[in-house]
Amino acid sequence: MQTKTVRVGALPVGGDSPLTIQSMWKKPLTGLSDELVAGVNGLAALGCDILRFAVPDMKSAEVLGELAGRVSIPLVADIHFDHRLALRCMDFPIAKVRINPGNIGAKWKVEDLVRKALDKNVPIRVGVNHGSLPGHLAKEKDGAEAMLRAAEEEIGVLESLGFGNIIISLKSSDTESTVRANRLFAGRFDYPLHIGVTEAGPLIPGVVRSTLAFSSLLRDGIGNTLRVSLSDTPEAEVITAREILAALGMRVKGIRLVSCPRCGRAGFDVHGFLALAQNRLMSLDKNLTVAVMGCAVNGPGEARHADIGITGAGNKVMIFKHGELARTVAEENALEVFFAELEAL
Ligand code: SF4
Repeated sequence: MQTKTVRVGALPVGGDSPLTIQSMWKKPLTGLSDELVAGVNGLAALGCDILRFAVPDMKSAEVLGELAGRVSIPLVADIHFDHRLALRCMDFPIAKVRINPGNIGAKWKVEDLVRKALDKNVPIRVGVNHGSLPGHLAKEKDGAEAMLRAAEEEIGVLESLGFGNIIISLKSSDTESTVRANRLFAGRFDYPLHIGVTEAGPLIPGVVRSTLAFSSLLRDGIGNTLRVSLSDTPEAEVITAREILAALGMRVKGIRLVSCPRCGRAGFDVHGFLALAQNRLMSLDKNLTVAVMGCAVNGPGEARHADIGITGAGNKVMIFKHGELARTVAEENALEVFFAELEAL
């Protein structure tokens, strides 16, 4: 569906721009540190295009503001109830503010906030969540319709103040309601949509629910930016989003990882290797297929078909590059040698 384009920092969202991946920082912003900067940069390297932070107090607003000056990825302030936090965040190079006008309170507070967003050219994401609908909609039986009406009301408040620099999300923990609400919205509005199943659950249920929702919506051309919400790390959210887009043929760059499930024949600890290597692999700016295999049954064949493959073979580990055996190493050296060979590709 054709939507308007909204700029989140330097990044266009909507219109003809590519789909973007978002995640949310999961710890409180207690202070600016090298560790925090490295964590944000690590997520960016993994493929996170936009990163959101909870801003529950003024200290968090200050830290987020300072952080925005230290990283290049667009940062989003997530604010509820207290409009002064949004005003403070917009003193810094914050790329977007997520608020719901309905929970900001008095009209003058919303007006103050919108005036500053207009002045600073900061877009607002209105995040409609099925779990926190306004009181008059909370008992509505049709969750998708209720979310749509909430979005209409929130947009109405912003538009009445001359503000149209808006991104919308309509999220439920129920996949079907999420899909229907977004379809209804996309049929009536042309604001860019941030899609996601909220509170999707722990890793496995969350991946399944998010995959179902995203594949339905994205195949219909609905959705401009997405977040997988997992009770897991932001890294897992970003990798899941990447894999969904790759499986749908909508994002083809980066590492394509093939690995065996491991069985009693494995002479090489595939799981242990991947636990150490996966995020590092996924952070590489290379378009390659990588195979990680356990034994000589399927390992050499799969490893040969990949750009680079590693497989157990008896008590050794073999590394293949472009179909040729490149190295045979002891397992304790496998990680180091594998990455050295990969970097050289
Ligand atoms: S490659 Fe070997 S270890 Fe891995 S699942 Fe197949 S048979 Fe088992």
